[in-house]
Formats: sequence, C-alpha cells, structure tokens
Amino acid sequence: MIPIAKPCLGPLEAKAAEQVIASGWVSQGPQVAAFEADFAAFTGAQHACAVSNCTSALHLALLGVGVRPGDEVITVSHSFIAGGNTVRQCGGTPVFVDIEADGYNIDPEQLARAVSRRTRAILVVHQMGMPCDMRAILQLANREKIAVVEDAACAVGSEIQFGTGWRRIGRPMGDVVCFSFHPRKVITTGEGGMLTTNNAAIDADFRLWRQHGMSVSDTSRHASAQVIFEDYPVQGYNYRMTDMQAAIGREQLKRLPDIVRRRRALANRYRLALQEMEGVTPPVEPVWARSNWQSYCVRLEDGIDQVALMQTMLDQGVASRRGIMNMHQEAAQRDVPLAFPLPRSEAARDHSVLLPLYAQMTDDEQDTVLGVLADALKTRHRPAQTDLAQAV
Ligand SMILES: *Cc1c(COP(=O)(O)O)cnc(C)c1O
Repeated sequence: MIPIAKPCLGPLEAKAAEQVIASGWVSQGPQVAAFEADFAAFTGAQHACAVSNCTSALHLALLGVGVRPGDEVITVSHSFIAGGNTVRQCGGTPVFVDIEADGYNIDPEQLARAVSRRTRAILVVHQMGMPCDMRAILQLANREKIAVVEDAACAVGSEIQFGTGWRRIGRPMGDVVCFSFHPRKVITTGEGGMLTTNNAAIDADFRLWRQHGMSVSDTSRHASAQVIFEDYPVQGYNYRMTDMQAAIGREQLKRLPDIVRRRRALANRYRLALQEMEGVTPPVEPVWARSNWQSYCVRLEDGIDQVALMQTMLDQGVASRRGIMNMHQEAAQRDVPLAFPLPRSEAARDHSVLLPLYAQMTDDEQDTVLGVLADALKTRHRPAQTDLAQAV
C-alpha cells in the first residue's frame, strides 16, 4: 500500500523527546524558546511564537491584526475550514473569493473587487505549499491599508522571489505568517503551530494570549529567586506548545532542507511523466515561486470520474485524496453570504486528485503510482466502449 503521505520521524526525534522527559520540564519552556529562535533564524522573521496548532495561530494572527465583531476578512473558500472558522471566532465575516484560473491560490483581481469599508484583513493561503502572488496582493493591501495574514500551514520550506531576491515563506511580507506542524504537513511535531511577524507589539500580544493572558510565564516564576505573583491584564487562551513537541520540531527543522530537496525531485519526476500522460494536467509553478510540494495536485480532464478513478487506484494499493475542500460547500460555513460565485473553486475540488508524495518515497514507488494512475485513466476512459459492447 502506498500512502498519501508519511511523516519523517526517526531516532533523533525520539531521543530529543526523551531528553525533555528526563529533564523534568515538559510544558512550554526552554525547548519552546529554542525552537522559536531556530524557526526565526530559518525563515528570516524577527519574531517567532510557538502555539498548539495552526488553527490557534490563525486565531491569534487575526486578533493581532485587529479583526473584531463586524469586520470582514477576505479569503478563499478553497482551503481548509480552519481559515473561515477562525475569522468567525473573532466575530468577523469571511468574504470568499475565487482562486486563479491556473492554480489553487487566491485570485488577486477578484480580491481587489471584494474590498469594502468593513474589510479589516486579507487572509491568503499558500495552498499545498505553493506561494501566492504576494506582489499583487501587497500592492492592493498597501494601497487600501488592509492587514495581510499568510496561512502558510503547508508552506514551511517554500520560497518566493520578492523584493531583491528569493526568500523563505515565513519572513513576513504582510503582517503575520501562520504555520502548522500537523503530521500531514512537511515537518511535524504531532500537533503544533508557529506565528512569525516583524511587529514586536503583535508578537508580545501573541505571547500573552497563548498563556491565558498571564503576565508572568510559569518558567520565569519557576526560575525566580523571589516570590512573584502573576496577573491577568487581558482575557487569553491556552494555546501553548509543549517542550516535547518543540524538541521534536528542532530536529525536524534540521532535516527540512533535505526533505524539501527530495520532495522537489519527486515533484519534478511527476511533472515529466504526467506531461506525457493523457487525461491529467500537472500543477503549475510560477517562475517566481518554489514550492515545497506539500501536496501534489493533478487536474483531471473533463469526463474523468474523480471518485471512480480514486477507487480504482485504491484497489491497486495507491492512496489518493480529492482536491482541496471548499468551505462554502460545508454545512459549517454555508450560512456565510457569498459575494461572488466560486466556479473555479468548485471545479478544483471535484476535478483534481492529490497523488502520494513523501520524502522517503522511492523512485520505484513513484513509478508504481504513475503506472496505476495511467491504467486507471485508461479504464476510466472506457465506459463508452462498455456501453457499445452492451448495445451490440
Ligand atoms: C492544515 C491546515 C490548517 C490547520 O492546521 P492545524 O495545525 O491542523 O490546526 C490551516 N490551514 C491550512 C491551509 C491547512 O492546510
């Protein structure tokens, strides 16, 4: 069985977690601080704040840029539901816009038409690790004075040509960037998230909010020779990461360049093979973007039955997933009024398939996937012939 994804975890991560357990300090402490420093250095951000997952990161990011009841946040429907949910958790309303014609990221032209007096922020998603068109997005945001939050849940290790050269996603182009370390992403801590920003005041808010709005952390209280009491100046949340997760994250971050290198090589092999295959189109990488290929999404030609194709592949031992979900098509978000029809988002969900991709994947395994896909595409082209046979 070839799975859709596999986390890259090994003895180094196990050893790191073991050392934390032996240290006696397992909650947010020195390892979280060290992971934050490593992550800031890796991305080039001035501040990095670790949290429990990317959903809590998105919640704090939106609060940090001032999203409050009555505000609108322009975003895509074509993304994981946490984006819309966290806008609403702040009391805001998501304004869903469609994706680009040749990709799965927000369409900057439609974004411009969605701006209103109530727009507080733009939440863009680097979907499946592919960077958004940040140049166009920031031009608009700067002109309209709207905050920009990047949902980079999938995009650790991705790069974009911006300003004078290439930079890693995470060095803020807008206000705040949010990452996930869920096992389905490129590196993992089991559950985990990170916020990066160059804004010291927003970073200070994140640190307060993630630990109940408590003025003194338990680590500082523990280390103090004096008796100190904390107070609670603001209402907060418990969004902390544990030191075990952070220690694992530090090991994962060291492996990240190798992981991304292998994923890019595999994505390139997919592209070369799929260009020759009838019925599917490989994803497009703009010249100014370098994806980490968190997911490899192929587009099916009209007339190919997505579910039947995926079932045929599964029967042959190859897992796949349908294209990215749309929030507006889920009961949880269906009451959000739609300002625009979203035909590209709807077509993307129902006419694309994610293929297996993970750093440990061998060339042989990938060739198996390609062979099974090619066979499945042939079978799926055949219903017309079957009909003919029955008619005869
Ligand atoms: C995975 C994902 C999230 C949620 O991340 P968690 O760490 O599981 O909370 C949010 N947005 C996008 C685009 C994702 O892919």
